[in-house]
Amino acid sequence: MLAMFYGFSWLQWNGQQAVLFDLPNRQFHVFNFTFWPQDFILLSWLLIILAFVLFFVTVFAGRLWCGYACPQFVWTWFFIWAERITEGDRNVRMRRDKQPMGAEKFFRKAAKHSLWLIIAAATGIAFVGYFSPIRELIPDLLAFNLGPWETWWIGFFIVATYANAGWLREQVCIYMCPYARFQSVMFDQDTLVISYDEARGENRGKRKKNFDYKAAGMGDCIDCGNCVHVCPVGIDIRDGLQYECVACGACVDACDDIMDRMGYDRGLIRYTTEHALEGGKTHILRPRLVGYFVAMCAMFIAFGYTLYARVPLEVDIIRDRGQLYIEASNGTIENAYMLKLANKSQQDHRYSIEVTGIDGLKMISDSEVNIRSGNFLITRSVYKSNRPTWSALTTTLCSMLKRWTMPISVLMKRIALSDRPIDAKTMLNSTE
Ligand code: SF4
Ligand code: SF4
Repeated sequence: MLAMFYGFSWLQWNGQQAVLFDLPNRQFHVFNFTFWPQDFILLSWLLIILAFVLFFVTVFAGRLWCGYACPQFVWTWFFIWAERITEGDRNVRMRRDKQPMGAEKFFRKAAKHSLWLIIAAATGIAFVGYFSPIRELIPDLLAFNLGPWETWWIGFFIVATYANAGWLREQVCIYMCPYARFQSVMFDQDTLVISYDEARGENRGKRKKNFDYKAAGMGDCIDCGNCVHVCPVGIDIRDGLQYECVACGACVDACDDIMDRMGYDRGLIRYTTEHALEGGKTHILRPRLVGYFVAMCAMFIAFGYTLYARVPLEVDIIRDRGQLYIEASNGTIENAYMLKLANKSQQDHRYSIEVTGIDGLKMISDSEVNIRSGNFLITRSVYKSNRPTWSALTTTLCSMLKRWTMPISVLMKRIALSDRPIDAKTMLNSTE
């Protein structure tokens, strides 16, 4: 996930940044797709689908998102790693923290905070690089030539990352994150959770390695406290499932390590379900899980089809309000419309315009237009038709009502560029 976050902004696609949210031009490029603000309904759908994916994963495997994919936690682990390589593991750190400040302690702490700031800066730059082309952002940054909003957002993310992952850490999960509060309602007795096997571990107590603890009525837990020491949210999993637990699995590894050293079976703390802990059978297929899965698949298919069938052309037709219809001396009628066309694809295109709906209807303005990728064109389009030959009664009724409507259809077709190369001089764009 970290590699994706830092790396995606550097990928190129069709000669431009593969993932770029170009706010000034209100265009959002994601590989082969360019989305405009009019497409935000798709974003809403995507968020709803992701919510269902989250519900499905939570019912099935508990807080998998929190422990392995949530940015807050992923960055916290990244900072903990930086802390460990500069200041050592928890016990060493605690011992050193009690000592007075010396050269070694000072340099280790300076190294830790420098590493944190480097990670925070890389995060801020990578994030802003999704909104401002990163290949221009880095040279501008090195030349101290950043714009005001880029400077502000990079600074903001440096501070936010440093504070959240370096200092606040689990406080965000425990006190600020709303998801942590309500996800337990999605759990059932077959949801995978990290649990301490109380039946096997109790009575806990310290002992020597080869001590016959079973004869002494003791369980497998040697009460070393390692599972508590490594827990990033500072809880004791042996007290049962708690809402603070983010299912990171650190206590599982710590306890397995102790079990190995003692020569006991692994899994005193493990991923399991309530049913399994009680000696029952875990049911994988259950109505709620199947329901989420079906809803999720249906939405994925509908979303995929919508993307596939999406027409990357926006057409608005507006009556030219500055001019009424014109009745020519030869009996024909001219009407003018404003066509607002947007080419939302990633290639330049030529489009043909045809009109149908009334006998003798034809366009007397350009019937082909060229629009560059990502540009829009506003053009005046004039249509000419024969005067309708109506009965005296119809004409009288229309005159009384002072209006009549005759629907016409405008058909736009994309002409393949290879069929007819576009002359760059005739290419129109939004500024023309
Ligand atoms: S790490 Fe395992 S053995 Fe040690 S206290 Fe925790 S549960 Fe008991
Ligand atoms: S109890 Fe275990 S899984 Fe839960 S947060 Fe603490 S270390 Fe992670």
